[in-house]
Amino acid sequence: MSLLNKLEILADSAKYDVSCASSGTKRNPKGRLGRNTPGGCCHSWSSDGRCISLLKILMSNICIYDCAYCVNRISNDIPRAIFTPDELAGLTVNFYRKNYIEGLFLSSAVTKSPDFTMELLLQTVRLLRKEYRFGGYVHLKLIPGASWELIKEGGRLADRVSVNIELPTRQSLALLAPQKTPDSILRPMKSVGALIQAIRRERKKTKKAPLFSPAGQSTQLIVGATPESDRQIMMLSESLYDNMNLKRVYYSAYVPVNSGRNLPSVSSPPLLREHRLYQADWLIRFYGFSTDEFLDEKNPNLNTDFDPKTDWALKHMETFPVEINRADYPQLLRIPGIGIRSAGKILTLRKVKALRFEDLKKLRIVLKRAQYFITLSGRYFGDEPQNAEKIQARLRIPVQDKKKDSDQLDFFTRDPNRLADELSAITGEL
Ligand code: SF4
Repeated sequence: MSLLNKLEILADSAKYDVSCASSGTKRNPKGRLGRNTPGGCCHSWSSDGRCISLLKILMSNICIYDCAYCVNRISNDIPRAIFTPDELAGLTVNFYRKNYIEGLFLSSAVTKSPDFTMELLLQTVRLLRKEYRFGGYVHLKLIPGASWELIKEGGRLADRVSVNIELPTRQSLALLAPQKTPDSILRPMKSVGALIQAIRRERKKTKKAPLFSPAGQSTQLIVGATPESDRQIMMLSESLYDNMNLKRVYYSAYVPVNSGRNLPSVSSPPLLREHRLYQADWLIRFYGFSTDEFLDEKNPNLNTDFDPKTDWALKHMETFPVEINRADYPQLLRIPGIGIRSAGKILTLRKVKALRFEDLKKLRIVLKRAQYFITLSGRYFGDEPQNAEKIQARLRIPVQDKKKDSDQLDFFTRDPNRLADELSAITGEL
């Protein structure tokens, strides 16, 4: 099979994995081919919000497992291919030199055994780092069930590593991916998290300590293939951030590529749900919220009509309006339409003068939303009094312009509520 055929098959097979983003790495490029930026510039986003500037590819799509939701499962009759480490390392460097890519996202189906597959992945990255002296970004997928020594070497060679959890509960894993066990996924994740922390502490003492997955580890959760609520998913993510030191959890709307009696009957991926989960995830990681604040047993799913921060504010009108010229940073972060950057700018500007409504416009705060929740030197600017129902009606996206569950991100919408909502998926400003 030609290299081009392999490339077509194995790039296509990798497209369902969304757990790649290249932020946060600081690998030193001195004397090496390729460059990394700590600011996370070496990625871009496709129309559906997925990362595209890395060569995102599988080593092999020949799989010994039969996960019900996966296009590469052993029971599917699809074209199969496998790269040699030489082929894949050469291809990556060629693409890099032609400026097609800035890094590599390398994953694989489980071919022969977890250790066999992990060893193939490592041979590829070893070639890149040692033979080609490639200093660019590498995100390496760790294969559940592979031995700790191999996983450790992966962390030493890559900028970021990830093990995909895929399904949120033990029961769902047993139902749809019975050959994987929670232990084979969570054990390496926990050990990698602990080692990342240990190496970070070590490197504070001496820069000679070896790098180990400097951009952290991430994972992917499939949303909508099994009946778990948003609350279960967010509680899991929260515990992964707290206990396993994860950098990111990626949510992947279930794409129905197979049929089977254990699979749900859906015609299109639940993209609006995925979008709301990403927004809730931002709020947990950067805004000081916890899952319990937006979701409980009675309301276990995120409101699709509003972003989770606006939804929370509408249910807690007693905490508003907040006086912009006096509020502290955590209070500012709770105002719909004021994100992390805007809150910081408000604090800086407030040192020199009391802010007016026009100042907030210049700070590019989403006043369409924020106006209902703030005062400026005692003055309320909302065109509705403090009435949650009336404000809800103002902020709700018109039915004809409402994003359907299967809609892609649309930056050409005319409705400002929807546009601000769409942009928050990229900027994290809510
Ligand atoms: S292990 Fe499961 S999810 Fe991964 S490629 Fe094989 S069938 Fe797909």
